[in-house]
Amino acid sequence: MKMNVKNFFMPYLIITNHVRNAWIKYKYRGFKQSLQKNKYVQLRIEGTNKCNSNCVFCAYQYDKSEKKTLDFELYKSAIDQFVSEGGEMVSFIPVVGEALLDKLLFERMKYLKKYPEIVQIELFTNGILLTKRVFEDLVDAGMTDLFISTSGFEKDQYEKMFRNSFYDKLISNLAEIALSDRFLKCSINIIIYTDSLFPTFNRQYKRFKKLGYHFLINNFVDNWNDKIKDYNLPGFMYVAPKLKNHSSPCLQIYRGITLRADGSLTQCGCRDVDHDREMTFGNIKDTPLHELINNGTWQKLYDGFCNKNVPDICKKCTIPIFWNSNERDY
Ligand code: SF4
Ligand code: SF4
Repeated sequence: MKMNVKNFFMPYLIITNHVRNAWIKYKYRGFKQSLQKNKYVQLRIEGTNKCNSNCVFCAYQYDKSEKKTLDFELYKSAIDQFVSEGGEMVSFIPVVGEALLDKLLFERMKYLKKYPEIVQIELFTNGILLTKRVFEDLVDAGMTDLFISTSGFEKDQYEKMFRNSFYDKLISNLAEIALSDRFLKCSINIIIYTDSLFPTFNRQYKRFKKLGYHFLINNFVDNWNDKIKDYNLPGFMYVAPKLKNHSSPCLQIYRGITLRADGSLTQCGCRDVDHDREMTFGNIKDTPLHELINNGTWQKLYDGFCNKNVPDICKKCTIPIFWNSNERDY
């Protein structure tokens, strides 16, 4: 019965999703073409692969890899080489993990100040450890863009979805950050993963909207290579419909590269939780970053997408539809 009600409302969410995506597509028209000019414009850093949450829609719960922190000397050498290869943006975004659990995060950000070439520094976090003081220190260290992920603003929804007990802490962090004199010095987006049909009707949502936060709302999530199943998701939250095919290369192929906590370099900083062989350039412990990024891995992936011969990890992945770069199958 529950599944029937769930399926009944899916078309409504698909339509709202389409409308939202059409707007995003219009706003960022020409974005992909601009990325193609410099395929290594962004370096993503997985400072640690540890997390303090256990989200129902994330593959972290299945990640058995050893928990690590990226060595600081390796990090510095990667940044030096990335900048000399023309890089301009750094993003602190683990494949899975919580960026604020990285005890070297502030040092890493401060190191970037050495390079005026770096024009954007992003951070993605679940916000649990993001007190006003931490937020201000991050802005002072150079953070330009902040993304905070949460559920819809209801405690029981959060606890079902994020499966931790820090909801009250998160709400108090968000309220205090909005009062900071650094609030307008950084672009802040809250990414809502929700199982609610009308998340914007919520009182707390309206309060934070008034305080100046921007929101991105998702009822759909990726299947993480079939690790996440629809029946595991609560309420009106769904695994995104399958992709028709990869009609063009995934944005991950242009968006940049990810340096993982163990020193390995992957083209897909979004879904490569299992260290996929075809996505991995190698490890900067053994080979300098500038040699890895020129070792033919990127070209092989790009050609594969153009010839409809994508790596296995990409076959079931629905991430490109979130970026409007490929079509859904429904
Ligand atoms: S979605 Fe983020 S916060 Fe949640 S378990 Fe995964 S890595 Fe941790
Ligand atoms: S299709 Fe999915 S797995 Fe493949 S590169 Fe894109 S985001 Fe990564």
